[in-house]
Amino acid sequence: MDAQMKALLEVQQLDMDMAKIDEMMRDLPVRRLILALRMREKEIQGLLAKNEERLRNSEQRSRRLHLDLDESRSQMELMKKKLYSGEIKSPKELAQVESRCESLRQRANDLEEEILNLMLQAEELAAETKEQRGQLEEVQGELEGHLLEYERTVKRWRREMRELQKLREEAQASVSPSLLATYERMRTRCQGRVVVEVRNGICGGCRVGLSPSHLGKLRKGEGEVFCEHCGRLLCLAD
Ligand SMILES: [Zn+2]
Repeated sequence: MDAQMKALLEVQQLDMDMAKIDEMMRDLPVRRLILALRMREKEIQGLLAKNEERLRNSEQRSRRLHLDLDESRSQMELMKKKLYSGEIKSPKELAQVESRCESLRQRANDLEEEILNLMLQAEELAAETKEQRGQLEEVQGELEGHLLEYERTVKRWRREMRELQKLREEAQASVSPSLLATYERMRTRCQGRVVVEVRNGICGGCRVGLSPSHLGKLRKGEGEVFCEHCGRLLCLAD
């Protein structure tokens, strides 16, 4: 076989090896796992943020209710003092103060109940938040492990790629620019297999027998010869 063709076949093999590594890197199962875990991480972070906001709102509301409660209680004390002070002269005024006292007491009861409910709710929220934090930690721990694994694999493959690339450059130096240009031009159409060997008059690309004239050109080494069926660049096998 012509030395140039031999070198081009080597270039082609190296390109195929690199394409395979490229594909493997894209299809790594750990990549999908990492993406899924990242989504889960985001989801939990969203839930956590929502819960934390609800907790903050609940605390704010609780503070306001406590102030209202203090206010109601101190007003009630004032009313009670008034009741027992002997200042009230008319039954009408007495009834008014008593009614005011009663409504303040009712108000205080309502406030206490709401404060208790908020406390219960806050406890539930806090427990939920704690659980979510635990889940988040777990997911992030898992993610870290997979990322490390991914990084190691990718690093190894990238190193391999660089080595293959170096070999390709060396092999390519023995191929004429015009032959290399033909190869590059046909790569996509031939899905990487541009150059094929001919054995016993049969094209190694499509397995169809070649015409005598093609075989003759090939044997004489008359420039680039392409398969009449699949269009690939032909070379005679040793
Ligand atoms: Zn063919």
